[in-house]
Amino acid sequence: MISVRNITKSFGGVEVLQGLSFDVPRGKTAVLLGRSGSGKSTMLRCLNLLEHWDSGEIEVDGRSLGGERLADGKWRRWSSREQAQARQHIGMVFQQFNLFPHMTVLQNVMCGPRKILKKGVEESRTIAMNLLEQVGLADKKDQYPVFLSGGQQQRVAIARALAMRPQVLLLDEITSALDPELVGEVLEVVRDLKREGLTMVCVTHEMHFAHDVADEVIFLEGGRVVEQGDPREVLVRPSTEQLKRFLARFH
Ligand code: ATP
Ligand code: MG
Repeated sequence: MISVRNITKSFGGVEVLQGLSFDVPRGKTAVLLGRSGSGKSTMLRCLNLLEHWDSGEIEVDGRSLGGERLADGKWRRWSSREQAQARQHIGMVFQQFNLFPHMTVLQNVMCGPRKILKKGVEESRTIAMNLLEQVGLADKKDQYPVFLSGGQQQRVAIARALAMRPQVLLLDEITSALDPELVGEVLEVVRDLKREGLTMVCVTHEMHFAHDVADEVIFLEGGRVVEQGDPREVLVRPSTEQLKRFLARFH
C-alpha cells in the first residue's frame, strides 16, 4: 500500500506539488491524469526517490520512503545507501526506454538481479528469461536494443524493471514515444501485470487504457488532487469543471 500525505515540492520558488495526498492499496492500479505541468512526473519521481519533496510523507507498505522520525522528533533523510535500498522495491519505466545500448536484451534484464540483488549468473538468467517470455521477447534475447522496435524496447524495459521484483511499478507515459500501432502490445503487458496483482501508479494520456486499467483515477491540477475516484464514475461523470474541461479534449 502506498500512502502519499501532503507532499509539497518547489523548484526555484515555484511550488509544483501543493500538498498532494492519495493512497494506492496493495494490488491496485492508480492512474494520474492532468495537463502538462500539473506535477504528474514530479510525483512519480518522488515515489522513486529520484526527487526529494520539501514536506509531507510517503509510506510504502507501512515503511517511510524518504527517511525516519528520530526520537527527538527531528526528521532524518535516508543516507544514499538507505535510499538505494528503498528504491530497489520501486520499479520505474520511462517514456524513453533508457535501455543500456551496449548490452543485449538478456544482459539488460539480468543486470539488476546480478549487480544489485547479487544473484548468481544462472539464477539471474532464469529470472530474466522468464520475464522475457512473459513480455513475448524470449526470441530477441541476444539482440541489441537498437535493432528492436520501440514497442519491443519498451517491453524489455518493463521486464528489466520487473527483474528487481518490485513491490510497486511506476509507469510514466510509457507509450507516448511509440508509433500508434505499437501502443497496444505494450499496454497489453501492463494489463497482464494488473491481472497478476502488481501495485502500479501510471501516468498516461491514453484514456481508454486509463478507463480499463485504473482502479482509481487521480486528476491533478497545479500540483493538487482536484478529483479522484473510480474511472467508471469520474471519467464518465466528472464532478469538477476542471476535469470536465480536461476530458473534453479527448472527445
Ligand atoms: P507533462 O504532462 O508535460 O509530462 P507533468 O504533469 O509530468 O507534465 P512535471 O514534469 O511534474 O509535469 O512538472 C511540473 C512542473 O514542475 C512544471 O512546471 C515543470 O516545469 C516543473 N519542473 C519539473 N522538474 C523540474 C526541474 N528539475 N527543475 C525546475 N522545474 C521543474
Ligand atoms: Mg510528465
